[in-house]
Amino acid sequence: MPLEIIRIPVLSDNYVWLVHEPTSGETMAVDPAVAEPVLTEAERRGWKITQIWNTHWHPDHTGGNAAIKEATGCAITGPAAESDRIPTLDRKVGEGDSVRLGAVEARVLDVPAHTAGHIAYHFATEQAAFVGDTLFAMGCGRLFEGTAEQMFANMRKLEALGDDTRVYCAHEYTQSNGRFALTVEPDNEALVARMEEVNALRERGEPTVPTTIGLEKATNPFMRAGSVEELAERRAAKDRG
Ligand code: ZN
Ligand code: FE
Repeated sequence: MPLEIIRIPVLSDNYVWLVHEPTSGETMAVDPAVAEPVLTEAERRGWKITQIWNTHWHPDHTGGNAAIKEATGCAITGPAAESDRIPTLDRKVGEGDSVRLGAVEARVLDVPAHTAGHIAYHFATEQAAFVGDTLFAMGCGRLFEGTAEQMFANMRKLEALGDDTRVYCAHEYTQSNGRFALTVEPDNEALVARMEEVNALRERGEPTVPTTIGLEKATNPFMRAGSVEELAERRAAKDRG
Protein backbone atom coordinates (compact mmCIF):
# COMPACT_ATOMS: atom_id res chain seq x y z
CA MET A 1 0.00 0.00 0.00
CA PRO A 2 1.32 3.44 -0.86
CA LEU A 3 2.25 6.06 1.68
CA GLU A 4 -0.36 8.62 2.60
CA ILE A 5 1.25 12.05 2.63
CA ILE A 6 -0.57 14.99 4.20
CA ARG A 7 0.45 18.64 3.96
CA ILE A 8 0.13 20.74 7.13
CA PRO A 9 0.62 24.48 6.58
CA VAL A 10 2.17 26.18 9.64
CA LEU A 11 3.78 29.53 10.51
CA SER A 12 3.74 31.96 7.59
CA ASP A 13 4.81 29.65 4.76
CA ASN A 14 6.13 26.34 6.15
CA TYR A 15 4.78 22.92 5.25
CA VAL A 16 5.11 20.02 7.68
CA TRP A 17 4.55 16.67 5.93
CA LEU A 18 2.73 13.95 7.84
CA VAL A 19 3.50 10.56 6.31
CA HIS A 20 1.48 7.44 7.14
CA GLU A 21 2.54 3.91 6.24
CA PRO A 22 -0.68 1.87 6.36
CA THR A 23 0.80 -1.64 6.53
CA SER A 24 2.58 -1.03 9.83
CA GLY A 25 0.45 1.90 10.98
CA GLU A 26 3.59 3.99 11.48
CA THR A 27 3.32 7.74 11.01
CA MET A 28 6.08 10.30 10.83
CA ALA A 29 6.33 14.06 10.65
CA VAL A 30 8.94 15.64 8.40
CA ASP A 31 10.43 18.89 9.74
CA PRO A 32 7.82 19.80 12.35
CA ALA A 33 8.27 23.53 12.83
CA VAL A 34 5.71 23.43 15.62
CA ALA A 35 3.97 20.63 17.51
CA GLU A 36 0.33 21.52 18.05
CA PRO A 37 -1.10 21.47 14.50
CA VAL A 38 0.87 18.29 13.74
CA LEU A 39 -0.42 16.44 16.82
CA THR A 40 -3.95 17.65 16.09
CA GLU A 41 -3.90 16.48 12.46
CA ALA A 42 -2.51 13.06 13.42
CA GLU A 43 -5.13 12.66 16.12
CA ARG A 44 -7.92 13.69 13.78
CA ARG A 45 -6.89 10.88 11.43
CA GLY A 46 -6.43 8.33 14.20
CA TRP A 47 -2.69 8.12 13.49
CA LYS A 48 -0.03 7.80 16.18
CA ILE A 49 3.21 9.62 15.40
CA THR A 50 6.07 7.13 15.84
CA GLN A 51 8.86 9.09 14.13
CA ILE A 52 10.13 12.54 13.20
CA TRP A 53 12.61 13.04 10.35
CA ASN A 54 14.52 16.33 10.20
CA THR A 55 16.34 17.65 7.12
CA HIS A 56 18.35 20.39 8.87
CA TRP A 57 18.70 22.23 12.16
CA HIS A 58 16.79 25.46 11.45
CA PRO A 59 14.15 26.15 14.11
CA ASP A 60 11.35 26.30 11.52
CA HIS A 61 12.14 22.61 10.83
CA THR A 62 12.85 21.30 14.33
CA GLY A 63 10.87 23.58 16.67
CA GLY A 64 8.18 20.95 17.29
CA ASN A 65 10.57 18.04 17.94
CA ALA A 66 10.62 18.14 21.74
CA ALA A 67 6.89 18.61 22.28
CA ILE A 68 5.90 15.91 19.77
CA LYS A 69 8.37 13.50 21.31
CA GLU A 70 7.04 14.36 24.76
CA ALA A 71 3.46 13.74 23.63
CA THR A 72 4.05 10.56 21.61
CA GLY A 73 7.39 9.01 22.60
CA CYS A 74 8.41 9.07 18.93
CA ALA A 75 11.98 8.53 17.71
CA ILE A 76 13.74 11.42 15.95
CA THR A 77 16.09 10.97 12.99
CA GLY A 78 18.19 13.77 11.54
CA PRO A 79 21.52 14.85 10.09
CA ALA A 80 24.55 13.49 11.94
CA ALA A 81 26.53 16.53 10.85
CA GLU A 82 24.10 18.83 12.69
CA SER A 83 23.48 16.72 15.78
CA ASP A 84 25.07 19.30 18.06
CA ARG A 85 22.42 21.77 16.91
CA ILE A 86 19.49 19.32 17.19
CA PRO A 87 19.72 18.03 20.77
CA THR A 88 16.52 15.97 20.42
CA LEU A 89 17.97 13.53 17.83
CA ASP A 90 17.85 9.79 18.58
CA ARG A 91 19.34 8.59 15.30
CA LYS A 92 22.02 10.48 13.37
CA VAL A 93 22.24 9.75 9.65
CA GLY A 94 24.10 10.79 6.50
CA GLU A 95 24.66 9.90 2.84
CA GLY A 96 23.67 6.34 1.95
CA ASP A 97 22.05 5.46 5.26
CA SER A 98 18.72 3.72 5.09
CA VAL A 99 15.79 4.78 7.23
CA ARG A 100 12.53 2.88 7.50
CA LEU A 101 8.96 3.91 8.03
CA GLY A 102 7.25 0.61 8.66
CA ALA A 103 7.31 -1.40 5.44
CA VAL A 104 9.03 1.24 3.30
CA GLU A 105 12.61 2.35 3.14
CA ALA A 106 14.17 5.71 2.34
CA ARG A 107 17.79 6.54 1.53
CA VAL A 108 19.53 9.56 2.95
CA LEU A 109 21.19 12.01 0.56
CA ASP A 110 23.69 14.61 1.75
CA VAL A 111 22.67 17.94 0.20
CA PRO A 112 24.75 20.58 2.00
CA ALA A 113 24.63 24.30 1.09
CA HIS A 114 21.55 25.84 2.76
CA THR A 115 23.05 24.43 5.96
CA ALA A 116 26.34 22.54 6.24
CA GLY A 117 24.77 19.20 7.12
CA HIS A 118 21.44 19.39 5.25
CA ILE A 119 20.06 16.00 4.19
CA ALA A 120 17.16 14.77 2.05
CA TYR A 121 15.17 11.52 2.25
CA HIS A 122 14.36 9.57 -0.92
CA PHE A 123 11.76 6.80 -1.05
CA ALA A 124 12.71 5.11 -4.33
CA THR A 125 9.76 2.70 -4.28
CA GLU A 126 7.34 5.59 -3.70
CA GLN A 127 9.04 8.00 -6.11
CA ALA A 128 8.99 10.62 -3.37
CA ALA A 129 11.69 12.84 -1.90
CA PHE A 130 11.61 15.11 1.15
CA VAL A 131 14.11 17.86 0.45
CA GLY A 132 13.62 20.44 3.21
CA ASP A 133 15.05 23.79 2.13
CA THR A 134 17.37 22.51 -0.62
CA LEU A 135 15.03 22.43 -3.63
CA PHE A 136 11.85 24.49 -3.92
CA ALA A 137 9.32 24.79 -6.72
CA MET A 138 11.24 26.97 -9.21
CA GLY A 139 13.79 27.81 -6.50
CA CYS A 140 16.52 26.56 -4.19
CA GLY A 141 17.52 27.30 -0.62
CA ARG A 142 19.72 30.24 0.29
CA LEU A 143 23.40 29.43 0.69
CA PHE A 144 23.68 30.15 4.41
CA GLU A 145 26.40 27.65 5.30
CA GLY A 146 27.62 26.36 1.95
CA THR A 147 28.63 27.20 -1.59
CA ALA A 148 27.15 27.49 -5.06
CA GLU A 149 29.36 24.56 -6.01
CA GLN A 150 27.64 22.40 -3.40
CA MET A 151 24.19 23.55 -4.50
CA PHE A 152 25.07 22.82 -8.14
CA ALA A 153 26.07 19.29 -7.09
CA ASN A 154 22.81 18.97 -5.13
CA MET A 155 20.82 19.83 -8.26
CA ARG A 156 22.62 17.05 -10.18
CA LYS A 157 21.98 14.58 -7.37
CA LEU A 158 18.28 15.44 -7.14
CA GLU A 159 17.60 15.50 -10.87
CA ALA A 160 19.06 11.97 -11.03
CA LEU A 161 16.11 10.74 -8.93
CA GLY A 162 14.01 10.77 -12.10
CA ASP A 163 11.35 12.99 -13.63
CA ASP A 164 8.37 11.33 -11.95
CA THR A 165 9.77 11.74 -8.44
CA ARG A 166 7.49 13.93 -6.35
CA VAL A 167 9.39 16.59 -4.43
CA TYR A 168 8.09 17.60 -1.00
CA CYS A 169 9.70 20.88 -0.06
CA ALA A 170 9.25 22.72 3.21
CA HIS A 171 7.97 26.13 2.11
CA GLU A 172 5.35 27.74 -0.10
CA TYR A 173 7.78 30.03 -1.95
CA THR A 174 6.59 29.12 -5.43
CA GLN A 175 5.06 32.38 -6.60
CA SER A 176 8.02 34.53 -5.57
CA ASN A 177 10.42 31.97 -7.06
CA GLY A 178 8.45 31.90 -10.29
CA ARG A 179 8.50 35.69 -10.64
CA PHE A 180 12.28 35.58 -10.36
CA ALA A 181 12.51 32.61 -12.74
CA LEU A 182 10.63 34.62 -15.37
CA THR A 183 13.24 37.40 -15.18
CA VAL A 184 15.90 34.77 -15.98
CA GLU A 185 14.02 32.94 -18.73
CA PRO A 186 11.11 35.08 -19.95
CA ASP A 187 10.74 32.96 -23.10
CA ASN A 188 10.60 29.57 -21.37
CA GLU A 189 7.13 28.38 -22.41
CA ALA A 190 6.91 25.70 -19.71
CA LEU A 191 7.74 28.36 -17.13
CA VAL A 192 5.19 30.85 -18.45
CA ALA A 193 2.49 28.17 -18.42
CA ARG A 194 3.42 27.00 -14.94
CA MET A 195 3.27 30.52 -13.53
CA GLU A 196 -0.22 30.96 -14.90
CA GLU A 197 -1.27 27.84 -13.01
CA VAL A 198 0.56 28.90 -9.87
CA ASN A 199 -1.00 32.36 -9.89
CA ALA A 200 -4.47 30.82 -10.24
CA LEU A 201 -3.82 28.39 -7.37
CA ARG A 202 -2.49 31.11 -5.06
CA GLU A 203 -5.40 33.39 -5.89
CA ARG A 204 -7.64 30.64 -4.48
CA GLY A 205 -5.30 30.21 -1.50
CA GLU A 206 -4.28 26.72 -2.65
CA PRO A 207 -0.85 25.08 -2.28
CA THR A 208 1.52 24.59 -5.22
CA VAL A 209 3.61 21.72 -3.83
CA PRO A 210 4.60 18.92 -4.05
CA THR A 211 6.36 19.49 -7.33
CA THR A 212 8.20 16.92 -9.47
CA ILE A 213 11.77 16.59 -10.68
CA GLY A 214 10.50 16.71 -14.27
CA LEU A 215 8.71 20.01 -13.68
CA GLU A 216 11.76 21.48 -11.96
CA LYS A 217 14.04 20.39 -14.81
CA ALA A 218 11.76 22.34 -17.16
CA THR A 219 11.24 25.49 -15.07
CA ASN A 220 13.70 25.85 -12.15
CA PRO A 221 16.45 28.41 -12.91
CA PHE A 222 18.79 26.87 -10.33
CA MET A 223 18.39 23.32 -11.61
CA ARG A 224 18.69 24.70 -15.14
CA ALA A 225 21.83 26.72 -14.43
CA GLY A 226 24.51 25.42 -16.81
CA SER A 227 27.45 26.01 -14.50
CA VAL A 228 28.37 26.73 -10.89
CA GLU A 229 28.99 30.37 -11.86
CA GLU A 230 25.56 30.69 -13.43
CA LEU A 231 23.89 29.21 -10.37
CA ALA A 232 25.89 31.56 -8.12
CA GLU A 233 24.87 34.60 -10.20
CA ARG A 234 21.21 33.60 -10.13
CA ARG A 235 21.27 32.94 -6.40
CA ALA A 236 22.88 36.33 -5.74
CA ALA A 237 20.35 38.09 -7.98
CA LYS A 238 17.43 36.38 -6.21
CA ASP A 239 18.89 37.30 -2.80
CA ARG A 240 19.03 40.97 -3.86
CA GLY A 241 15.32 40.46 -4.54
ZN1 ZN B 1 16.05 26.36 6.52
FE1 FE C 1 12.94 26.66 6.35
